[in-house]
Amino acid sequence: MNFNIDAQKQNTYDAIVIGSGISGGWAAKELCEKGLRTLVLERGRNVTHITDYPTAMTNPWEFKHHNRLPPSFREQNPIVSKCYALDEATQQFFTKDSEQPYIQEKPFDWIRAYQVGGKSLLWARQVQRWSKFDFEGPARDGFAVPWPVTYDDLAPWYSYVERFAGISGNKDGLEGLPDGEFLPPWELNCVEKHLQKSLKSHYTDRHLIIGRCAHLTKPQPWHTALGRAQCQARHLCYRGCPFGAYFSSQSATLPAAQKTGKLTIRPHSVVHSIIYDPKLGKASGVRTVDANTNETIEYYAKVIFLNASCLASNQILLNSTSSRFPTGLGNDSGVLGRYVAFHNYRGIAYADIDGFEDQYYFGRRPTSGFMPRYQNVHKQETDFLRGYLVALSASRGGWGHAAGQEGFGADWKETNSKPGPWHLYVQIQAETIPKFENHLRLSPEQKDKYGIPQLITSIGYDDNDLKIIKHFHTSVAEMLDKANFKNINLVDDKRNPGLDIHEMGGCRMGSDPKTSMVNKWNQIHHCKNVFVTDGAAMTSIGTQNPSLTFMAFTARAANFAVQELKKKNL
Ligand SMILES: Cc1cc2nc3c(=O)[nH]c(=O)nc-3n(C[C@H](O)[C@H](O)[C@H](O)COP(=O)(O)OP(=O)(O)OC[C@H]3O[C@@H](n4cnc5c(N)ncnc54)[C@H](O)[C@@H]3O)c2cc1C
Repeated sequence: MNFNIDAQKQNTYDAIVIGSGISGGWAAKELCEKGLRTLVLERGRNVTHITDYPTAMTNPWEFKHHNRLPPSFREQNPIVSKCYALDEATQQFFTKDSEQPYIQEKPFDWIRAYQVGGKSLLWARQVQRWSKFDFEGPARDGFAVPWPVTYDDLAPWYSYVERFAGISGNKDGLEGLPDGEFLPPWELNCVEKHLQKSLKSHYTDRHLIIGRCAHLTKPQPWHTALGRAQCQARHLCYRGCPFGAYFSSQSATLPAAQKTGKLTIRPHSVVHSIIYDPKLGKASGVRTVDANTNETIEYYAKVIFLNASCLASNQILLNSTSSRFPTGLGNDSGVLGRYVAFHNYRGIAYADIDGFEDQYYFGRRPTSGFMPRYQNVHKQETDFLRGYLVALSASRGGWGHAAGQEGFGADWKETNSKPGPWHLYVQIQAETIPKFENHLRLSPEQKDKYGIPQLITSIGYDDNDLKIIKHFHTSVAEMLDKANFKNINLVDDKRNPGLDIHEMGGCRMGSDPKTSMVNKWNQIHHCKNVFVTDGAAMTSIGTQNPSLTFMAFTARAANFAVQELKKKNL
């Protein structure tokens, strides 16, 4: 008896954070800095900053397979192998398909990074604020439920996370893509500047800007205090950055949390469910399975932050059943797992341009050009709802393009030493509409190796998405033609949902507990001491890269949770 009480005490913290990726790292930092003894439960292995980036300094010729993965790897891992960032240098940060099987009722590529740091080690670091048009979208256009949060509510939190993370960008003064707290921007190259100028002369609603990204172009004292240094423009980021020059949990939030002396991280802790105490009317803790021993271990806290990433957080909530919540924690509304959305990346364009052969660029820029959404911004104008942003980059074919060709000797070397022609790559990033039928649920029969029911994904495209791709192709072809690009090639790569790695929803935010799962503070309506602050809580998804918004919501919710704890409301 005494022993059990001691064990419970030992496993009790002020706060528990589930997941240590982009959003979990922020929750840990904020809760620790505000004085809470915080336990981070992470299902993957530990990854120590710098020492666990084994390929960060590896030269191309030092890789066993020339930085390619052998066919056997791809055969065994057909899902993760589709991710563009996976190669021999980065494969240690990607979760292999067999680690967590799931059931694709409709095709969905679930890309995961189970380790301390999560996908923060692998992300492409593009960050854009939402605008008022994004928060107002569902109410104006009559889809989803209205957001209970406005741009003005989130703006100070955007500033807060941007300053700490270090975001490079230009103050472009665009209503549809608000400016933030920026470090110096990267530069558009000559072909991109040419396109920018052409757009300005032909349109009033289209702007080409340099991408805003979470890289230290000019580190500030609070960055260097954490051991972070300036970006070296190597663009080997997906291997882990030994300079701490891009924002990751390892480079930024976890060391800040560690500095407080309040942080405990427990890797290899697969969260099975959140424990609900009907007497208290709130959650009392978290049930985990130790990935090494298969032992079930429970941890307890006054407040729980769920940050396992969108699909995994839904899975944990759906599996957190009790007599009070037989279909998942807080799921009185029946919307848990519903209204999942993702970014439509299917539209692509390639083009060439003549006339800039005397110009080049410096280094490997870790960002690209962006055109913020220019469709349906102020009012509904098209036969589809919402819209898309355009990401693009121009580059010169160089020794890379020649290296793909067979050859040897002086002539071949000579060809390789000359920069090739200019190419442009253009990609859509379109909003999809959260729909009731696009959902997640648990398999009643099939479990994973930890005894957790497997997730069923039932998420697909609709007519709106196809109309958007068509519009993108027509619109991009017109813009490139006006700017004298040639060989314009329009592609629909028909990729599965999920490969965008921007999945959101399932535990959506709203004012009405009958139609939403969390309130405006990311607090589960019917279980107030559980906060869901990753992509699962997104009501709609905008066109922007999502992680900055997850960071801002997380910092805001953590601040609120600590105030509520002080008032003894949790
Ligand atoms: C190649 C790539 C490029 C990307 N580019 C961009 C970009 O440019 N801009 C952008 O905004 N976003 C980008 N993303 C997406 C971005 O990485 C995610 O939006 C972000 O990481 C989500 O943060 P998160 O905290 O929700 O999840 P994650 O960062 O994935 O962290 C979740 C953590 O929870 C842990 N976990 C999961 N299940 C459990 C469990 N049951 N028990 C315990 N722990 C668990 C995981 O191991 C992981 O560590 C990209 C992603 C990838 C892979």
